[in-house]
Amino acid sequence: MGTFAAPTPAIVGALKCQKDSYLQTLDTEVVSCEEYIAPKTAQPSGKLKTKKSTDPTKGLADGDSNPSKTYLIEFADSVLFPEGGGQHTDHGSITTMNNESNDSIPITNIQRHGLRCIHFSPVPISSGTPVRQNVDFTRRWDLMQQHTGQHLLSAIMDCMDLPTIGWSMGQPGEMNYVELPRKPSDDEMKTIQEQCNEKIRDSMPITAETPEGRGSDSLPEDYDREKGVVRFIKIGDMDYNACCGTHLKQSSHIGLILLHHMQSIRGTNCRLFFTAGDRAIKMATESINSLRSIAVSLSSSSAPADVAAGVQRLGDQVSEARKKEKKMLAEIAKFEGERIMSYLQGHQTAFLHRATDGLDFINLVVFEIKDVVKDHGVVVLSSGEVKTPGSIVVIGKPGLVESMATKVKEVVSTAKGGGKGEKWQGKVTEWQKGEIEALKATAEAE
Ligand SMILES: [Zn+2]
Repeated sequence: MGTFAAPTPAIVGALKCQKDSYLQTLDTEVVSCEEYIAPKTAQPSGKLKTKKSTDPTKGLADGDSNPSKTYLIEFADSVLFPEGGGQHTDHGSITTMNNESNDSIPITNIQRHGLRCIHFSPVPISSGTPVRQNVDFTRRWDLMQQHTGQHLLSAIMDCMDLPTIGWSMGQPGEMNYVELPRKPSDDEMKTIQEQCNEKIRDSMPITAETPEGRGSDSLPEDYDREKGVVRFIKIGDMDYNACCGTHLKQSSHIGLILLHHMQSIRGTNCRLFFTAGDRAIKMATESINSLRSIAVSLSSSSAPADVAAGVQRLGDQVSEARKKEKKMLAEIAKFEGERIMSYLQGHQTAFLHRATDGLDFINLVVFEIKDVVKDHGVVVLSSGEVKTPGSIVVIGKPGLVESMATKVKEVVSTAKGGGKGEKWQGKVTEWQKGEIEALKATAEAE
């Protein structure tokens, strides 16, 4: 190791992947390798801890969710792009070329640290080791189609008084969005969609330029403006934008840009969702297939308008059925109320159990009988089924209610509740086998 003179590594801004975004393999060497020590996140209070555990992405980048070690490796150059400019990290692999072991090491996290491009590796590789880097080019191609697609989409909307305020690239299989200061009209949406695909057909050249002395306002705060390289991405004659990402070489490689829905955000701002290229085709295919399967369930045609009408019809039917059900339940409650009141003519106590409809039904019955039973006897109303939760209400003459509630708690092991005077109300955590029958026997004992 003593004879090893470390080459100066390429800085982010001038990485091989940024100079040639279609290159898939690079032979280079390890410049440095150190074990990754996760930053100590102070967790003195339970509050912080909860926050951490609810963020599923956090642990992955930290590497602290994985008990095995992680190593930070810097190479002389990199064909693997680190996360940046809104573009997600590349995936790929590293193979050592000194015959030590030719196992391919998977790399799924590459980050920019200042001007350095750092690969997170599960295996250490010593400095000076020659390696071959391979890019997962299916993933990279997808990311480039989304990113270059966003540049083109934003350039087109810029000319329509719809400047892009920000954007977010979705993970593979998800939608991307651009944030706009207002919602585009239907006509504007149509124009944007047409223009996008026209510019794609035009097959405009896309190039990266690094003009001397030209700054940009959009550089990250931790990027060294003095030593760094500011790259501008040029789409034909229509767009010139500072960006560190890897881009397609011509607009036709975007394939297509598909506009999705819009979402209001932060007052009058609007998120316009979109996908590009193979991802757009895949999503459109999934949508078509879903529409088809919904159409089959509805026994309608697959035409979007027919499916939408079918779902609307189904919704109307459901709310109609709910109304009917509510009415019917009220009728049953009225009927049961009358039955209880007539039973109380010859008895001190009455019992009613209904497996379904819970407290809603009980309250309907209570409403029917409360004025009569407060002067006459006591009634136990319950709901639920064995192994499920339930409700119990005891209603009647104050003294009788109290003694009946005590008996109820003796019979139903998980009953808890309270109340005084004419009404006691309780919850059953879980009805045990035989308890409903036992409650009936107790309630009807007198
Ligand atoms: Zn960009």
